[in-house]
Amino acid sequence: MTDQTTSAALRRIAPSRTNAMTDRAIELRAAGRDIISLSVGEPDFATPAHVIEAAKAALDGGQTRYTAVAGTAALREAAALHFARDLGIVVPPAQVIVTAGGKQAIFEALLATLDPGDDVLIPSPWWVSYPEIVRFAGATVVDLPTKAAGGFRITAAQLEAAITPATRWLLLNSPGNPTGATYPAEELAALGAVLRRHPRVLVLSDDIYAPLRYGAGAHATLSVVCPDLADRVLTVSGVSKSHAMTGFRIGVSAGPAWLIAAMGKLQSHNSGNPCSIAQAAATAALAGPQDFLGEWRERFRTRRDRVVAAINAIPGLSAPLPDGAFYCMVDAAPVMDRFGDDEALALHLLEHGVAVVAASAFGGAAGFRISFAADDAALDEALRRIATALG
Ligand code: PLP
Repeated sequence: MTDQTTSAALRRIAPSRTNAMTDRAIELRAAGRDIISLSVGEPDFATPAHVIEAAKAALDGGQTRYTAVAGTAALREAAALHFARDLGIVVPPAQVIVTAGGKQAIFEALLATLDPGDDVLIPSPWWVSYPEIVRFAGATVVDLPTKAAGGFRITAAQLEAAITPATRWLLLNSPGNPTGATYPAEELAALGAVLRRHPRVLVLSDDIYAPLRYGAGAHATLSVVCPDLADRVLTVSGVSKSHAMTGFRIGVSAGPAWLIAAMGKLQSHNSGNPCSIAQAAATAALAGPQDFLGEWRERFRTRRDRVVAAINAIPGLSAPLPDGAFYCMVDAAPVMDRFGDDEALALHLLEHGVAVVAASAFGGAAGFRISFAADDAALDEALRRIATALG
């Protein structure tokens, strides 16, 4: 009999609950059920044509071999251009690493720096993979809870109270998944003032949704607001969300040379270089025309407004207006006594033909996340079903 015991590290983590819900919706659809999926975190728009052309040209041109582990020179340059143009972060291409999605960058950065006994501060509701990666690395998750009333953002006082000698990382995600919350520059400056007093703390700034912001003014990011902290900030970005390229699996990160090198060391024994064809496509995405983004943003904004208005019109549900990304966090506390927990509520909605993800999957409670990356007709029908399910 084969010993099927998995590693202690693997046993510390749970599978992604967003993927689980998406898989369940696919299964039900395959069984003939009419399910509208508002559980996936990817834009429904087609990948821009010039990106597809670049992928085809790379194939035809024989770009089918290994590349440098940290990415091709062309993509690292395009990524440096993206960081400067879209985030205001000026870095040489040598301080950029290309990974198989932003997910791999986060995995590498945390695995390369964490030891058992280290703490990682994660504001909740959080992106599902953050705590699992931290646990896989053998470190401890420290939850910094946020509330809709506080804009789903941590305060400087909350950060100060949470930092101990064991703290190694703070994970910041703006605009955030699942809340859509963004940190304005003055709040980042206040967090920076705390971080300045604690030089051991590294910061992961996950800005992957930065091009999808709806508020006025420029996107604010920690290493620009507090340039003196830039030597301990890793900024994660990519093309999955902004350029509808989730399947290409390309992320780009900018950070201090030592950390980029540490991530590259791990990557050299893990995936090696990211896919050469996908890198060519991502180069076209980041260095090519960006004008389509304005139109996408407007379409997302219209959907956001429509979804939030419809949710707030359903008795017992409420949702604040998200500033960015394409998610909306719904508070269902007033109806929870009918369900027991939010997983039961999500399953009830699935029975009524809508797949959403329970708030507890994100470290939240008594609610669910809607992804509004679906077309208007699907959104309207899904919201009608939610109203009926709770009526
Ligand atoms: N960070 C956040 C907050 C996300 O929501 C996601 C994807 O869902 C990622 C990072 C990783 O995206 P990818 O690996 O597709 O680049």
